Amino acid sequence: MRILVVEDEPDMARQVRDALTAAGHAVDLAPDGEEGHFLGDTEPYDAAVLDLGLPKRGGLSVLDAWRRDGRRFPVLILSARDTWREKVLGLRSGADDYLAKPFEMEELLARLEALTRRGAGHAAPVLVCGPLRLDTTRGHFDLDGAPLVLTALEHRLLAYLIHHPEKVLSKTELSEHIYEHDADRDSNTIEVLVNRLRNKIGASRIRTHRGRGYQLTADGDAA
Ligand code: CA
Repeated sequence: MRILVVEDEPDMARQVRDALTAAGHAVDLAPDGEEGHFLGDTEPYDAAVLDLGLPKRGGLSVLDAWRRDGRRFPVLILSARDTWREKVLGLRSGADDYLAKPFEMEELLARLEALTRRGAGHAAPVLVCGPLRLDTTRGHFDLDGAPLVLTALEHRLLAYLIHHPEKVLSKTELSEHIYEHDADRDSNTIEVLVNRLRNKIGASRIRTHRGRGYQLTADGDAA
């Protein structure tokens, strides 16, 4: 999943990015409210972490603008002020969750996992598609009960697919959700990644719909 982190403190931003990257996500950083607003307005994120106290434009104003413009990705607010007024204001501006600084990185990860899962329409923490399972709390895949060893990009791609099982997803959509903003996106690499995944999970599990995209299917054998 691809996550936007809007945070002006460089150390905090780096720590959050590193933890999210280690958990298998693609992460874009924005150091101020203006850039954060622009990225959230133009890129299809699966979730955002938004600090409230930001240079150039405050977090609540950014959130308000996103929601007014119809941006629906889940937003977790970070704030240095742990007051109930601040929480209520954030939630009423369209945030989905709220975390006060200082916080444990594990808690941020757990809350974001729940938000991205719910954002894709799943309530349970384990996503299942045929013999393939993703335990979102641990970020691990298994196939027929055996752990699946994946590279970082294979993991991101398969995680996005299993959040949207049985749906035909275009190469453009897939690359938008697994690469960072500044990454050199080449749609051929999606093909390469899909083929590598097929070698690991069985060729028929990911169907090609010519000109439209790829579909992760539970009913792989019937292809
Ligand atoms: Ca700040």
